[in-house]
Amino acid sequence: LVLDRKPKAAATPMRAALDGVVAYKAGMTLAEAGRRTGLSDFAKLASNENLLGASPRVAAAVMAAVAEPQIYPDPYCETLRAAIGQRLGVSSERIVVSPGSEALIDYVFRAVLAPGDEILLSSPTFPAYDIFARCVEATIVDVPRLANFDLDVPAVAAAAAKGPKLLILCTPNNPTGNALSKEAVETVLAATPKTTLVFVDEAYREYFEAYDMLAVLEAWGGPWIAARTFSKAYGLAGMRVGYGIASSEDLIAYLDRLRPPFNVTAVSQAAALAAWDDREHLASTVALTLSERVRVEAALDEMGVEYTRSEANFVFLRTPAGPEATAMRLLHEGLIVRPTPVKGGWVRITVGRPADNDRLIAGLPAALVP
Ligand code: PMP
Repeated sequence: LVLDRKPKAAATPMRAALDGVVAYKAGMTLAEAGRRTGLSDFAKLASNENLLGASPRVAAAVMAAVAEPQIYPDPYCETLRAAIGQRLGVSSERIVVSPGSEALIDYVFRAVLAPGDEILLSSPTFPAYDIFARCVEATIVDVPRLANFDLDVPAVAAAAAKGPKLLILCTPNNPTGNALSKEAVETVLAATPKTTLVFVDEAYREYFEAYDMLAVLEAWGGPWIAARTFSKAYGLAGMRVGYGIASSEDLIAYLDRLRPPFNVTAVSQAAALAAWDDREHLASTVALTLSERVRVEAALDEMGVEYTRSEANFVFLRTPAGPEATAMRLLHEGLIVRPTPVKGGWVRITVGRPADNDRLIAGLPAALVP
């Protein structure tokens, strides 16, 4: 596997800073799961996709886009940005589209962080922040989460008051599922100087819409970018479309300077637009996923398993067997889950289709035995 290679920059023309970076390790692919087990029928519950699938309108939109002559795609994603802006009540000049919100994280980090600049984050959280921060040689200030993985709000507010260049708020948080309350966001923002860019990662926002994040950010009044994605609730992870909403057109203009010009394919733009327009499909798949999460959680309660309070499309649970052993045993049951390095032995499992969740509930007890 390419990721396992460990070349040294000294022996190559590459930047020495990259020696301190470990490549992102994604959830196990279906191909690898097949090689490891000899099985062929897997439910991939390792990357928080929506296995219920995207809107049925997406397939027709994709076929139509493929049938067109394949000239370059719209480099500005104008139609999609207009549709997003209209529903959110935000000028499309304040919106940027990227191939997944992961790419948006990369743009923002490269646009904001010079070597030695501080980025404030709270582990455990999405590993991409740490990776991209190291790539630009930023200084990572980590204010770890509390024992229940809630944000340590007073500690984050105190660290934010020192004025890092970039402050990351991930809500609901990956991998722990915890969401930030409106009051928690307001408390942190109130302490944050208006020279800090606040980056709110809302990849799972469609599963937790307790308050209007954009209004809270607007009320604060400093510079911010909210990152969202079509990969999770919209069911389009394979199409790679994310988007960012910024406090001002100027911030987007800076991102436009360093993002690749034709960054989102025509097919992906068409797919995202079709998914965006089908609000009924979004609402029904979100509702089913949330009710299935409650069903899985009830089963975890019955098994006496410790798990966090998730506001997303996954559960984060503690396994007495250790995360690798639990993941391996479930793999042999046809379930790909995500072992994590979080202290205490935690596994992250996506809420799948009802039949996937049945398999999970049936297979978990044996997979958890120490
Ligand atoms: N942010 C968070 C918190 C995530 O969990 C993920 C996906 N695992 C992403 C961003 C990136 O997703 P994508 O690039 O598919 O939009």
